[in-house]
Amino acid sequence: MKFNTKTIHGGQHHDPSTGAVMPPIYQTSTFVQKSPGQPIGDYEYSRASNPTRTALENALASIENGTRALAFSSGLAATDCILRSFKAGDEVIAMDDLYGGTYRMFTRIYKDSGIRFHFVDMNDLQKFKSLINEYTKLVWVETPTNPLMKLADIQEISKITKAHNILFAVDNTFATPYLQRPLDLGADIVMHSATKYLSGHSDVIAGALIVKEESLGEQLHFQQFATGATLGPMDSFLVLRGIKTLHLRMQRHCENGEKIADYLNQHPKIKTVYYPGLTSHPFHEIAKKQMTGFGGMVSFTFVSGRKEESIIFLEKLKVFTLAESLGGVESLANHPALMTHASIPEDKRKEIGITDDLVRLSVGIEDIEDLITDLEQALSS
Ligand SMILES: *Cc1c(COP(=O)(O)O)cnc(C)c1O
Repeated sequence: MKFNTKTIHGGQHHDPSTGAVMPPIYQTSTFVQKSPGQPIGDYEYSRASNPTRTALENALASIENGTRALAFSSGLAATDCILRSFKAGDEVIAMDDLYGGTYRMFTRIYKDSGIRFHFVDMNDLQKFKSLINEYTKLVWVETPTNPLMKLADIQEISKITKAHNILFAVDNTFATPYLQRPLDLGADIVMHSATKYLSGHSDVIAGALIVKEESLGEQLHFQQFATGATLGPMDSFLVLRGIKTLHLRMQRHCENGEKIADYLNQHPKIKTVYYPGLTSHPFHEIAKKQMTGFGGMVSFTFVSGRKEESIIFLEKLKVFTLAESLGGVESLANHPALMTHASIPEDKRKEIGITDDLVRLSVGIEDIEDLITDLEQALSS
């Protein structure tokens, strides 16, 4: 099956008991047993597994070309599940530009448990290699990153992690499997905030892990089952419904994203536009190599460099909604330093380039003329 067909049919079956074409929302915590320890079907208790969640997990495994997927109650719960396997003394090497909540978990939850974290520019492969030692257990990469749209070369990094027998996880939230499939490029684990593009309608919080290797899948499932951050049946249904239009939505997100990046790039009030589709973007070549399009996330700064200008701009937007999150059908605008990335200390933010005038747009699938008119009026103050 090709990708667009997989988003609709991948891993899906008609419901065996009723013939329902779409998987029912199995809103039940438990399942009947005919004799102690002998359930009548494949299910016992919904923390371990639930048929609606299984339907979603099969779809996720299919679209990421994995063998096993796990659906979590949030993206951060999925990340947490990976980190729980490590112990004091273990080391993690992570990219130096990460979703704020991921950074907060690494530095405020797990650092205290004795796991050592290194944050490095993953495009400096020499520096990355120099950090590897016998305690290195995990390499964590987000590509493209939130909010600066930095990229990391998944294939090159996987050659190094494979040679050293280190787990390699990629946060694929921004690209989605429509644009990039990390497992095919050599990663061991794909992580998603399914809250974003996968569900696509800003109506659910969900996360996912997808792997190729079955024993790793089994190990992660045990962690998830034993700690409990699973996705409920209703939310599983919503994410699965979202996935069925992923390819259509992503196509439009990419078209609109490219047009808005071009528009902002020629605007006299805009200084830098961060969008991997622009030939001026420092990671454009990597983007062309490992992605099949450039997505709908666009960040930019102002010539004036003034925080006040970015705030006034955001207050004046009418079609774009000022809100955290991304990846929904509707266009959103965000001020990383004051909103999504406020949990990163100021000096650290400055160091990686999250300036006080940086604005991040999640370009939706509305008519492009309305989006550009909206940006135009908000910029012309
Ligand atoms: C939102 C997000 C997360 C966290 O996911 P939640 O579903 O909010 O827990 C992780 N990584 C990226 C890139 C995100 O955008």
